[in-house]
Amino acid sequence: MRRWQLPIARLSAFEDHVDMDSFFEYRNCPGCGRDDFGVLFESNLKPCGLNGLYDYRMDKHDPDEFEEGYLVPGKEWGRHVRCNNCGLVYMNPIEQVCRTNEYYANAGNNHASTVKNSYLKTAESQVRLIQRYVQGERLLDIGCAQGFFLFMASTAGYTVKGVELSHDAAAYAREEFALDVEVKPFEALEFPEDRFDVVTLWQTLEHLSHPLAVLERVNGILRPGGMVVVSTPDIEAVPARILGRRWWDIKRLHVNQFSTRTLAGILRNAGFRDVEPASYKGFVSVSILLTMLLKYLNIYERSKPLLNSGSPLGRGMDKMMLAYPSGVNHCVVVGFKQPD
Ligand SMILES: [Zn+2]
Repeated sequence: MRRWQLPIARLSAFEDHVDMDSFFEYRNCPGCGRDDFGVLFESNLKPCGLNGLYDYRMDKHDPDEFEEGYLVPGKEWGRHVRCNNCGLVYMNPIEQVCRTNEYYANAGNNHASTVKNSYLKTAESQVRLIQRYVQGERLLDIGCAQGFFLFMASTAGYTVKGVELSHDAAAYAREEFALDVEVKPFEALEFPEDRFDVVTLWQTLEHLSHPLAVLERVNGILRPGGMVVVSTPDIEAVPARILGRRWWDIKRLHVNQFSTRTLAGILRNAGFRDVEPASYKGFVSVSILLTMLLKYLNIYERSKPLLNSGSPLGRGMDKMMLAYPSGVNHCVVVGFKQPD
């Protein structure tokens, strides 16, 4: 295996003290498996920040602490490269999976009440998207977070199951919606083959170190003709094109950056057929939008009292929702397992 090459020069003093291989792992293209890439831009992670992922760890006693990690637009990123074979943009090297998984396991759930209404309305539209394509009842959501989507799917008649790494988010899904959620990496779970009619990954694939392996496994657990739906941020959508590496979805935890074309490509590489773009309608409250904007501009702390959901202005902004087509910032692709 080739050693990771990136910030060695800049980290040389640091390297004397730390075994860098314990922080990073190098990978072949996560979309096609080849090892042939060009560098798009370098990492801006600082040596002293290598443990910093865990500074974001949400302290359950301090809700504000979590917000630092949530809705935070791109401030830190690893080296981004583009595969010369399939065109996928991905981070290389990446921080070690065991470390990031520990981070996700400990991620808190303090923003559930803030996003609940918008996410439930978005989920309604996502359920309608599935209903347009496939009939069936068994549905698995990988990276189900607090279960907003699973709840709407169960309301629509699906028998649902979720997989989630965050203990707190899974606990919320179980308590708030009585959902069946496994708190383990998907790769660690055993499923009988041909078990599900639909598998969904909403804003999950960009976090996974080995997305192709996960999608191949998804293909294995779908019934013949069953559907996968994948949605991720779109590196070719307008915000990414305008903002470049300052795009809010360029961040330390987003290790793969898909477009409709590369997302469709990885689904085909995983064995799916009839792969095609799709879309849903997203909803976002004015208070979430404003929070993101203020954090992006680094003036959130000063403005926080205004946004407080206890204040009349805050309450008003929580209720005001904007609808947008998913394509504004995301790519969505559906694919089908080969019928018998
Ligand atoms: Zn590739």
